[in-house]
Order: sequence, then C-alpha cells, then structure tokens
Amino acid sequence: MGKEEMFVTRQCRYCNGTGVRMVETSSLFGLIRKQVPLSCEMCAGAGSTFQAPSCKHCDGQGLIGNEREVCRTCNGVGHWDAFAYIPRDHLHVGTLFDRRCDQCDHNRMEIASEIEEYKQVLSWEKEEELRSVEHAERVKVRCPSCSHSYYIKLDADSHGDLTPDMVEALEKLGIDLSYMYQAR
Ligand SMILES: [Zn+2]
Ligand SMILES: [Zn+2]
Ligand SMILES: [Zn+2]
Repeated sequence: MGKEEMFVTRQCRYCNGTGVRMVETSSLFGLIRKQVPLSCEMCAGAGSTFQAPSCKHCDGQGLIGNEREVCRTCNGVGHWDAFAYIPRDHLHVGTLFDRRCDQCDHNRMEIASEIEEYKQVLSWEKEEELRSVEHAERVKVRCPSCSHSYYIKLDADSHGDLTPDMVEALEKLGIDLSYMYQAR
C-alpha cells in the first residue's frame, strides 16, 4: 500500500494550516503588548496533522453485521489502530500491541497465533447450498490480563514494511511502536 493511503493528513485546525500561532505577550505590567508568532504546538509547525485512515472493513462505523458486533479490524474505533501497522514479519505469537481490551480495559493485546488461512463464507443460496467462499488470513489475539480472545482478519492493505519515515509519522499519530520490540 502506498504511503499516502497509510497516512492521511489534514490541515491543522489549531493554526489553520499555517504552522504558526500568534500569541499576545505583555510586559511591564501589561503596558506593552505585542503579537508574537510561535510554532504551533498541535502540529509542531508542520501545518498538518496525521490521521489514521478510516477502517474499510466497517466503513468507519466501528460495528459490523446485523448483530452490530464490534469490528475487530479497528476494535470499534472506526479507524486504523496500532494493529494495522504491525509489519507482517512481526505478526507472531507474543507480539504485544496497543489496543484496549473491551472486557477488562487492559491497554495491550497480544498476538496468540501465527497467521492462519481460513475459508470465509460470503454468501449462500439456501436451496442449492452453493457457497461462495473466500480464502482469507487471520491471526488470533488475546488479552494478557483476562485472556479474552478473538480473531482479526488480515487486511491486504496493511502490515507492510515500516520505513523510518513511517515510524516517525506514526509517533506523531500517537501510536506507540515499542510493541515491535516486545516479542516474547
Ligand atoms: Zn498547527
Ligand atoms: Zn472497523
Ligand atoms: Zn482483558
């Protein structure tokens, strides 16, 4: 996947994309006031901020299907979380990543299986029982604290290699990449 798709940027609302904020300072007990340009702290002067792409699996809704189940691709948040950025060669048992457990509120999940292939039933005709299946890949993840577990289908668009540029961009997004080094 292209870098542009992995990292959606949007204009910083705080400084309207200028990267600069005018701040009024006063000295001499407020007798002298002047406007001083400061680098915008929300975007570090870049004028734009990173935004995780919205989740295609649930269309950004966070829930899927008639049962309104939590979308596990994004964990119900509607946009990519740390899981989507784990490089494929780190998708192994024991790798920890930033994700909240919705059973106990623990803030990390752990990969609990190697990549598995499975057949996903997409649709079927009742009378003929003719099934339309798709071969897909998934990994099981579990909460190290309460052992709650579920499968996450792998998205062909994510889990690419991370370049140093991307790592820097992710850190600006607030995604903690230290999970990469926490394989057991
Ligand atoms: Zn800004
Ligand atoms: Zn989703
Ligand atoms: Zn838990």
